[in-house]
Amino acid sequence: MISGVKKGQNFRFGFYEVPPENRLAAIKNAGFDETMFWWGDEYEDTDGSRFNLYDTAIKLGLQINTCHFPSTHADYLWYDDERAETYVHQFADACQECGQREVKNLVLHLTRRLITPEPNINGIRNFEKMLNAAVKNNVVIAIENTRFLRYNDFILEKFSSEHIGFCYDTGHNNAYTPDEQPLEKYGNMLVTTHIHDNVGPNGTPQDQHHLMGEGNIDFDKVFARLKHFNVERINLESYCNETSKYYGKVTMEEFLEMSYGKLDAQLKKSGMI
Ligand SMILES: [Zn+2]
Repeated sequence: MISGVKKGQNFRFGFYEVPPENRLAAIKNAGFDETMFWWGDEYEDTDGSRFNLYDTAIKLGLQINTCHFPSTHADYLWYDDERAETYVHQFADACQECGQREVKNLVLHLTRRLITPEPNINGIRNFEKMLNAAVKNNVVIAIENTRFLRYNDFILEKFSSEHIGFCYDTGHNNAYTPDEQPLEKYGNMLVTTHIHDNVGPNGTPQDQHHLMGEGNIDFDKVFARLKHFNVERINLESYCNETSKYYGKVTMEEFLEMSYGKLDAQLKKSGMI
């Protein structure tokens, strides 16, 4: 039996009208050990700066092992121009900021929606610089499974490093690659997880980010494989968004209580705590 699997909840779970420090406190009060942050400035309007969020979380006793590098421009990885240069710089800065705070994993998407060019040599050149920044700052680039696994394969054929890991996203697997097994392919590099539910490729939208049990993912099966790969942390990436049946019907505290309760029950059922 694995002992001490950490339970985490992504910070952006909805209820954006509530002050960020109250949302963090609610995550802690629900029982979670950890939270995850978006490591960019896209959501400063509702969330304040990532640095303030990090400091507040630490003060509250929440750990931060994983942050998400912005996926807003994930396609820039594959270009050979100013956009790529800026992107690599931004990533190096994020590595430094995370390294200084002992945030171990920085999640990276290799594709953005359907606008990403096919894998190419620019991606190799850019990724090499990004990996150097990760090594220098003792950060692991946690490459996530998104829409197409061929981009993951392309990078992993060229690079192998203890500073490259895998972030398994259950929702992306179910919605985008239901007939492929990313966890089996990359499970030996597993460092972190994004756990959320949806109804599969026919959902509107496909990537719903719902609570465990709100969609059709077989979490008994998923957690058995996570256990097999000695998962150390389960991070929920579920949100109370407009497409959730709970949207507008539950309080923030009720949502987090459900979120924590479902995870705790699954971990017990799967013999992981
Ligand atoms: Zn994810």
